[in-house]
Amino acid sequence: MPKENILNTYARFDIVLAEGRGCLVYDKDGREYLDFASGIAVNCLGHCHPAIIRAIQEQSCKLMHVSNLYWTEEQIKLAEKLCELSGLRGAFFCNSGTEAVEAAIKFARKYGKLTGGISKHEIIYMKNSFHGRTLGALSVTGQEKYQMNYMPLIPGVKTVEFNNIDELNSEINLNTCAVIIEPIQGEGGVIAAQKLFLEEAKKLCEEYDALLIYDEVQCGIGRLGSFFAFEKYGVVPDMVCMAKGLGGGFPIGAVVAGRKAAESISYGDHGSTFGGNPLACSVALAILSELLDNGVLENVEIISRYLLRKLQSLKEKHDSVKDIRGMGLLIGIQLSIDTKKFINECIEEGLLLAGAGTDVVRLLPPLNVEELYIDRAIDIIDSVLSKLTY
Ligand SMILES: *Cc1c(COP(=O)(O)O)cnc(C)c1O
Repeated sequence: MPKENILNTYARFDIVLAEGRGCLVYDKDGREYLDFASGIAVNCLGHCHPAIIRAIQEQSCKLMHVSNLYWTEEQIKLAEKLCELSGLRGAFFCNSGTEAVEAAIKFARKYGKLTGGISKHEIIYMKNSFHGRTLGALSVTGQEKYQMNYMPLIPGVKTVEFNNIDELNSEINLNTCAVIIEPIQGEGGVIAAQKLFLEEAKKLCEEYDALLIYDEVQCGIGRLGSFFAFEKYGVVPDMVCMAKGLGGGFPIGAVVAGRKAAESISYGDHGSTFGGNPLACSVALAILSELLDNGVLENVEIISRYLLRKLQSLKEKHDSVKDIRGMGLLIGIQLSIDTKKFINECIEEGLLLAGAGTDVVRLLPPLNVEELYIDRAIDIIDSVLSKLTY
């Protein structure tokens, strides 16, 4: 297959995937894999879920796109749902995670400009975070490897250590328009925010009239067992960014904004041609209904406890397992052996996993995963750990 026609931006695992069903995916030669990467936390209902297929089929026969020159009922309904679930005020729709972060950054800058003038434009972000690849989102992504070839990035951004209240306290001031945080850092290595840190961040944001932005692109949409990750913490942000699982494989992103940000936005401030088209919104509505009304969130709570128990016993058995962490079905295994080699061996044995940080492997099974597949994944991980350690 002439792969040289694809630009060299990704270090891919060398398999060509052709079809999938539920937790399983098949390569072009029919080899089966258990998919616990889920397209990086995107396929929240697994592959080819009937509710998603139905939404695409029905909506695509009715109306796919009209632009944001007009209203559609699908977009209105989805916005209403997201506001009702979050307690926030209004939604903006886009097509990806980085676009959601980009929109949140612009909304924060607009809020800063209206409330404190041009000097109130600074944004504080966390070390080790990941917010996306476009220049704005990249400017608040706390990892040198992603930023270094694209300097200079946007001005007015400052980084502090994740979970360090003192550092945040010393960097925030009246020129800060926003603080952006992943409640659980995903790509950076599955590192959870401490509840106290989010509480203090919220207090500081109120004190200095800055907006608290959560990037829930990866940890939201049911992954932790609650629809929004922040429900687990009880600390509500001023804006929340979503994407990945929101479309279950269909591209859609969103920012949901509270009163402060919502009231500062006016016509022409931001836009997206494709954003919130009726096809994407119909799929997202189908996902929401599966998660909230058909027991998928409850499944996450139950099955994640089962998965954690199994992983803890692997940790006791294998010295190469340093840490098991995360929440819900966003789980990291920290290894003392080479993670790339580990993931490749798992692929050989028929299990797809994702890397994170430098020494962490991520388990991101579909949210409707069943015990039998957890057992299968654990068996493979156990066998690969045994093989690579000795
Ligand atoms: C994946 C991810 C993004 C970027 O999403 P894209 O859809 O790839 O642009 C942003 N933030 C977080 C936390 C992510 O995990």
